Amino acid sequence: MSETFAIGGQWLSKLVGNSLSTESSVSKTTTSKANTSVWRQGREYVSIRSVLSPLGAHFTSPDARSLKVSRGPAVLDFTRDGNCFFYNNCKIFLGVPFFWEKQQLYVAKCDFISKIEPLIHPQGVVSKVSSPKTIVLDAGHGGKDPGTSARGICEKTWTLDVVKGLRDQLTQLGYHVVLTRDQDKFVSLADRVAITKRAQADLFVSIHFNACASKSAHGFEIFTFPAQGTSATHTGTRLKSQSSVSVANHMFSGWNTVLAYSIHSCIKEAFPNLGERGVKQGRLLVLRNNPCPSILIEVAFMTNEKDFALFTRAEKRHELARAIVGGIQKYAANLQHIQH
Ligand SMILES: [Zn+2]
Repeated sequence: MSETFAIGGQWLSKLVGNSLSTESSVSKTTTSKANTSVWRQGREYVSIRSVLSPLGAHFTSPDARSLKVSRGPAVLDFTRDGNCFFYNNCKIFLGVPFFWEKQQLYVAKCDFISKIEPLIHPQGVVSKVSSPKTIVLDAGHGGKDPGTSARGICEKTWTLDVVKGLRDQLTQLGYHVVLTRDQDKFVSLADRVAITKRAQADLFVSIHFNACASKSAHGFEIFTFPAQGTSATHTGTRLKSQSSVSVANHMFSGWNTVLAYSIHSCIKEAFPNLGERGVKQGRLLVLRNNPCPSILIEVAFMTNEKDFALFTRAEKRHELARAIVGGIQKYAANLQHIQH
């Protein structure tokens, strides 16, 4: 199956060659260009050390299967085996597990392009986006669809409350804000995407509250649509199959990561005891066809006693909105930094 990627720095192409378009379905393990890249089961992986050394990154290995990468103030942490890393202490899930070979850490090239490069070297992202001016805010559920509920309170009520707080704060800062709903009414997922397209939005932020059969599940998590050729982090009701089919939002995979990280770090700072579940990939319909960087925030678990008690207080929901605004400003500042 051939794959093409809309983003990825030219410097990376020079290092590992432009071989993604010839990805083979036949399993093979070959190395090229002094182990900069390795093929496994038809997928290309890049050596983190090889691709980040030319950018002036520094490496330390606390032990044989851990790697800490520093570049300026940014720090990446990979530990043991797994499908996630930490970027400045924020947990980011990859679409494909990384692996170690001959003491080298290899990450799927599609993950490198969509998750790591945009954070540590955003100048390398080929797909350019402009500083956000128009922001679509999406209050999850509504009308006949209440979402989850706890103690007589519906998710749709809290999502709308957070979104209204966000709208007021962002409008004050001069952003043009469009809501997918501003009252308790049903809006289909397709209509939410249509609203985003019509608004020619620069960002899409969807707000939800979570639920789990296990009452101990708690904390916040942020979803982006899986980068092309990678899998969703979650199982359950979400579609979990891997797909190489190109969708509109793939153009923005790298910027989704930057937006999600920016907001994740601000929520973590404002609510240090809430607990972070990480930046994950979710094959979510409301994100798939959005023509702009798009994320979905699961604020907390209504089914968890502590999370529920926290956000049952209106001032905490508004404090959350402030943290999300801070994340949007951090994202915008990041873009301006690149452009100048
Ligand atoms: Zn929901």
